[in-house]
Amino acid sequence: MAAGNTRPPTMLQMLEIAHPEALALAEAQPEVSVVIPVYNEVDNLTELVGRVHDALAPTGRSFELILIDDGSRDGSAAMLERLAVQRPWLRPVLLARNYGQSSALQAGFDRVQGRYVVTLDGDLQNDPLDIPAMLDRLDSDDSVDMISGWRRQRQDKALSRRLPSVIANRLISRATSVHLHDYGCALKAYRRHVIDRIHLYGELHRFIPSLAQDAGARIAEVPVRHHARTRGQSKYGIDRTFRVILDLVLVVFFMRYRQRPLHAFGALGLWLATPGVAILGWLAVLKLGGDDIGGRPLLIAGVMLLLMGVQLVVAGLVGELLIRIYHEGRGSPQYHTREPLAR
Ligand code: UDP
Ligand code: MG
Repeated sequence: MAAGNTRPPTMLQMLEIAHPEALALAEAQPEVSVVIPVYNEVDNLTELVGRVHDALAPTGRSFELILIDDGSRDGSAAMLERLAVQRPWLRPVLLARNYGQSSALQAGFDRVQGRYVVTLDGDLQNDPLDIPAMLDRLDSDDSVDMISGWRRQRQDKALSRRLPSVIANRLISRATSVHLHDYGCALKAYRRHVIDRIHLYGELHRFIPSLAQDAGARIAEVPVRHHARTRGQSKYGIDRTFRVILDLVLVVFFMRYRQRPLHAFGALGLWLATPGVAILGWLAVLKLGGDDIGGRPLLIAGVMLLLMGVQLVVAGLVGELLIRIYHEGRGSPQYHTREPLAR
């Protein structure tokens, strides 16, 4: 064989030569980790597990399916344990109570072993048959770290579901500058480092693309299938609207000002304190001129503005201390570098 044709040994081949026992461990690790949160979905589980298996097995990729029971009361946990008996690739995680979809997802993310991570809902509305194409795209397209599903033909109620979602998608896209048609689609595929960099609290699962882009991920959106829910009930109603708006404020603050809270709080503080100082200065001049300013409403306004302004600047300074403790105390960097693509 000509010297030019010899390929350098792969990482696994080098590992085999140096540490045969480590190779066994590396091989035991699945390539793909599928993460699904489950809350009262007992009637969907058997079919769900079957469909994920049938979608992934033909691809020849090794995989694990991490199903997180989020404190279900309908026997989902027992069902998961039964299903896991014959299936070594199925790893149930049983949470002690209902924590919500974001925490359930995070519980899964904390346990993933694969180099690709896929999420979907446990109600069979997403179609596992879309997963292989997403993984192929991650294989072939180095310019993408995360693929987000787009339910082009969404099978949910128009007024209570699709309309609020259209508005939310526009609003979130504009506010965060991460432009997607469908923030609400749970079916997503990630390179592992993206998952390692984000932390979900509250109900932030709806903002994963924004959080991921903030962590340096490059995102693509692909159309995926969507089915109507045939069994079990949706866990959310229209009441989520206000929570989404508040979370949007949080995410925008996080994306723009996390590294410089003084600029957010301090700017507001200066906007308030400046007219406060002007008012108080003006009243001081009047006072020196012999006026009685004690009963003037403007005095109260001036004092309030100055006080609020100073407090906001101080809040910004405290924020600056906190961000330093966050990064330096926990050793988490304030930036990420591009990950080399492991092949
Ligand atoms: N879910 C969860 N914990 C909760 C609520 C929901 O793990 O507290 C799961 C649920 O079982 C499903 C997914 O999150 O797998 C999405 O929930 P759902 O289908 O009710 O939301 P929708 O599609 O109606 O927005
Ligand atoms: Mg659903």
